Amino acid sequence: MFPYKDASLTVAERVRDLLSRMTLEEKAGQLNQLPTRDERLQARIAAGELGSVLFADSAFAGNDKQARVMVGQVNELQKLAVEGSRLGIPLICARDVIHGHTTVAPIPLGQAATWNPPLAKGAQENAARECSADGIRWAFSPMMDIARDPRWGRIAEGFGEDPYLASAFAAASVRGFQSDALPPEERVAACAKHYVGYGAAEGGRDYNTTEITPTTMWNTYLPPFKAAVEAGAMTIMSAFHEVDGIPLAAHKHWLNTVLREHLGFTGAVVTDWGSIYQLIPHGVAGDDAEAALLAILAGNDMDMCTELFYRNLPTLVRTGKLPLAVLDTAVARLLTVKFTLGLFESPYTDPARAARVQSIPAHREAALHFARQSLVLLQNRNNVLPIKEPNTGILLCGPMADMRGILHGTWCLDGDERHTTTLKEAMERLKPEAFKLTHVGLIDDAVKLARWNNTCVIALGESSGRSGEDNCTTTLELPAGQIEQVAAIHAMGIPIIAIVFCGRALALERLCQLADTVIIAWHPGTAGGIPAAEAVYGLLNPSGKLPVTFPRNSGQVPLYYNHKPTGRPVPTKNRYHSRYIDALDSPLFPFGYGMSLTTFAFTALEVDKSSAKVGETINVSVTVTNTGDRTGDTVAQLYLRDPVATISRPVRELKGFRRITLSPGESQTVTFPIGPEELGFYTADGIWCVEPGLFQVWVGDSSEAPLSTQVTLVPATTV
Ligand code: BGC
Repeated sequence: MFPYKDASLTVAERVRDLLSRMTLEEKAGQLNQLPTRDERLQARIAAGELGSVLFADSAFAGNDKQARVMVGQVNELQKLAVEGSRLGIPLICARDVIHGHTTVAPIPLGQAATWNPPLAKGAQENAARECSADGIRWAFSPMMDIARDPRWGRIAEGFGEDPYLASAFAAASVRGFQSDALPPEERVAACAKHYVGYGAAEGGRDYNTTEITPTTMWNTYLPPFKAAVEAGAMTIMSAFHEVDGIPLAAHKHWLNTVLREHLGFTGAVVTDWGSIYQLIPHGVAGDDAEAALLAILAGNDMDMCTELFYRNLPTLVRTGKLPLAVLDTAVARLLTVKFTLGLFESPYTDPARAARVQSIPAHREAALHFARQSLVLLQNRNNVLPIKEPNTGILLCGPMADMRGILHGTWCLDGDERHTTTLKEAMERLKPEAFKLTHVGLIDDAVKLARWNNTCVIALGESSGRSGEDNCTTTLELPAGQIEQVAAIHAMGIPIIAIVFCGRALALERLCQLADTVIIAWHPGTAGGIPAAEAVYGLLNPSGKLPVTFPRNSGQVPLYYNHKPTGRPVPTKNRYHSRYIDALDSPLFPFGYGMSLTTFAFTALEVDKSSAKVGETINVSVTVTNTGDRTGDTVAQLYLRDPVATISRPVRELKGFRRITLSPGESQTVTFPIGPEELGFYTADGIWCVEPGLFQVWVGDSSEAPLSTQVTLVPATTV
């Protein structure tokens, strides 16, 4: 037996032995990933030309309906690799398992609205259990691109606009996929993507150029990746776009120097789909060989779907253009992932496992719990929510009222729709005896029936096909015709509860004028319409908080809470300040905002010391009291500002949060530590620095929380 097959050796020893036995072609083959649709897939696997198979029929898996992944097919392909190829190196089978597999959690943007990262960990553990049962051991998730422009359709796939919140979710998701709580054969390699700055696409147009300064990169776009690396992410995906004229697939500085040397990442980097070839249209490579050389030298280890590594790397080594050590390092990283996952010992998946784990009640219950916490109540005029007696006649209408599959959201390839409830079904099922529910599909019928009902529930929003990859919009208004439907009901004079299923922040000013109550339900996944229906009947008290700013209109974007002050800040009544003349300065709903059916008071904001030395930690505490008459959850949020620094710092930055549940009259004191990690920032060179001086502190339930105090940092050497 070759030593690399000996499980009692260390992974490093096994990798070294295997590498020493591989030909140049076999090495290049390990860096080659092809999609299942490839016509010669089987032959290539047996010939050792392939290290990984991507279970996708097309490059647009996020939008296309894809064939369900079949464990039998995975095992057959694996057999060709293990028993048919010369060295028997198993494949690593990959898929876009983004927010669930057969059981679907809310889209990541909705997950972030829960401000409850442990739920993301649990959801990805469940996704890992399900997808590994189908033979998928590599998930291209979590996506952690900060997005400040909701026109960008991929905002749905990430955790919103804030690096601190996104970092918490990124780390939790990685820990879920690779969880120690799972048996080894159920663990899945996470892939933190898209490294780095992809969400800054100019104009919110996918794949577009970005202009990101080094300080913005370090302080805004990089932190979630740092968190993912610290959480142990085994792989990272390099992004499509370019920064400073260099596509990320060829960007040595960000991909190698920063990711490897600064963040200390030791895992494997996979390119995004086709990005090596795209170095040619980007205008930095003249031909295939040059593209392959640039990509491997920049720090990519696996080539997703161009085959340019496989076709060019052996020759590049033979002609002395590529040092063998670079190729060996890349192969070693990929092999390390395979050995760590235990693929050499257990390459096959027991088909019986799928039946035991797919869409099981425990997973569905967890997804429902997650979706419940993601529901954001934006307004509730006259307390129309929940519907109460004697207002028992409910009219349900709107284009999203009877939708099922699209509630799963973008990037959902294996979601089992049989377990997903439409809003109509949920409202029928949960309806209290005394209520009468009438659902109509057409708006003219709804208008006609309005006068005989007490409340209209109108389900609006976006199709899942309107968000995700390559689904960018020029407007953030509701899709065509929807606001007219609301206006027509409004004209009949009955209260309106609008439930908005969406994959991005929308401009809802007009809707908020017409509807009394507005709920954001995101694309909730398997839970479907249940949480929204529960809220309508008062069975659920909404508790989500926005992970992204909701603007008043599309022209305001990019609009994000942690912006720089400028030399002419607003708000002020004076002219010649940084604003538009045709809209208010503020967003419609700020980051961190979300109502409850109860009320909370934040009082007694205290610091354990008002001054500390650089390097020390100050504890900030606040008392939160439920001042209403229902049990509810809120999220205590801590924001900081460094008003005078060597580079201008954002007007506020989230630096702590805690979700808490309080019953009526109950109080809880929440304490946040603020130390060097919270008080510092990165310079353009990536140096973390904490500067002495005054810091403003706010704690409350949104990024506009008024309750504030301040602390002072003195130099560490001060006696
Ligand atoms: C997307 C990635 C995805 C990959 C594989 C690309 O088009 O940008 O997020 O993981 O396809 O399907």
